[in-house]
Amino acid sequence: MRAADARTDVEVLLVGAGPGDPSLLTLAGAAALGRADVVVYDYLANPALLAHAPAGAERVYVGKKGFSEHVTQDQINRLLVRKARELGERGGGVLVRLKGGDPFVFGRGGEEALALGEAGIRCSVVPGVTSGIAAPAYAGVPVTHRGLASSVAFVTGNEDPAKDESAIDWEGIAHGADTLCFYMGVRNLPVIARRLMEAGRPADTPVALVRWGTTPEQEVLAGTLETVAARAAAVGFKAPAIIVVGAVAALRDRLAWFEPGPLAGSTVAVTRTRAQASALSARLRALGASVVELPTIDIVPPPSYDEADACIARLAGYRFIVFTSANGVEAFFRRLALAGLDSRALACARIAAIGPATTEELAAHGVAADFVPGEYRAEAVADVLIEAGLARGDWVLVPRALEAREALPRMLRARGARVDVAPVYRTVPPPRASVEPALSRMAAGEVDAVTFTSSSTVRNFVGLARGLGPDGKALLENLDFYSIGPITTATARDEGLSVAAEAEEYTIVGLVHAIVEHRATRAKRK
Ligand code: SAH
Repeated sequence: MRAADARTDVEVLLVGAGPGDPSLLTLAGAAALGRADVVVYDYLANPALLAHAPAGAERVYVGKKGFSEHVTQDQINRLLVRKARELGERGGGVLVRLKGGDPFVFGRGGEEALALGEAGIRCSVVPGVTSGIAAPAYAGVPVTHRGLASSVAFVTGNEDPAKDESAIDWEGIAHGADTLCFYMGVRNLPVIARRLMEAGRPADTPVALVRWGTTPEQEVLAGTLETVAARAAAVGFKAPAIIVVGAVAALRDRLAWFEPGPLAGSTVAVTRTRAQASALSARLRALGASVVELPTIDIVPPPSYDEADACIARLAGYRFIVFTSANGVEAFFRRLALAGLDSRALACARIAAIGPATTEELAAHGVAADFVPGEYRAEAVADVLIEAGLARGDWVLVPRALEAREALPRMLRARGARVDVAPVYRTVPPPRASVEPALSRMAAGEVDAVTFTSSSTVRNFVGLARGLGPDGKALLENLDFYSIGPITTATARDEGLSVAAEAEEYTIVGLVHAIVEHRATRAKRK
């Protein structure tokens, strides 16, 4: 064991995940996650941040929720030591301990660092944006303000209310700082308010409670020391929340700025590849949705490039090239480059692109598509080519996924064309570790809606859901499924899913639009 401990190639980082909004992670935090072999994360760290970690990284959830601890601190400390040692035995690696907010602000990060230190393992710290500042900020409350508050204190509100003798010096706290930010205090709110008043803070001191601050679920409740506990009880206000006490809490009336978007309260699963998810996820988040990335597919090379390379060698002989997906374009051009060629090699052929995303990807390679069929059914695409002059005996190249549908080549052959299909990539299910956290959130009922951007996302998603047993079956019946276009919708229906809405324009923007419209119409009907 000692030998492993002494290795310097094990790196342990305590990383602050920020208060909830995933864009409030620091650059250093994102970089650390990007290098992680193991991530140990808890309840308050937004699981969306795990997308920064490599797909194959091990993800360990040590959820601790308020008072009911699933895992004790001692167990977490031991787990961290064990994981670090395992990495050492494997020749090194990076262990990231991801903690909500800042690791050293009521995060018990200090204890974890000490436990690691006692085991001979050094760790470094990436501070995070703490919820005590960020949640008030998102509620329009600056924790200090010239003329109103020149000091601020962070206080735990977690004290056992049953204790007669308080370990907290209420007198000192009540007068020690102008603004008081209580963490973990919702359950004790009545005690906190009473003690502060007993210690001499005026009963009309403004108070704001900010629950799930910085996230789409943010809720704010305002009152005074005298009224706030009853108001919170009346609406059943729950943890986790920051309690801000002090004159600054009243600035909210003028400074509140954060408005949950039209998708606030919805949790949407994004099933695209990890690499492609971000654009869709970002759009959904910008509209207030919580996003769960569940990468149902990975893009990998085909078992062999022989066919594709042979087609590339005779590119000049094709009258038409039909690109059916953005992935196909990307993979084809990569292969073309390896053959020492570029877009000029396509000069003899006329080029069809199915869908706007494919067209865009082609444009990124300097090729303007000659045709973009308005409809994506194989038959319609074949018609467009015929109209464009496709004659009997003409050669057509279709670079695409290994497992793509046969419909298009079949239809073209039926019209007399000679068709070469060049598999340039393959879609496979991703490593289990990278879908596990999202799957368990889904099984726990935390997801409301699922987006599909291709037939393979549908099929692999259904496979993953069925793997959950009866829970999965219920999910397939109850979730709202949104589809990017008719082919994807047809696949979803074949799999027995009912599609809530389909994009009118078959793009990511169109898909997001369909989701917003559908949820708005349904909310109105309710
Ligand atoms: N290390 C964390 C605090 C952990 S203690 C940090 O620096 O933020 C847990 C408490 O943090 C919760 O009980 C709640 O009071 C507060 N908290 C964490 N995230 C929060 C959020 N998004 N909104 C409001 N309060 C939050």
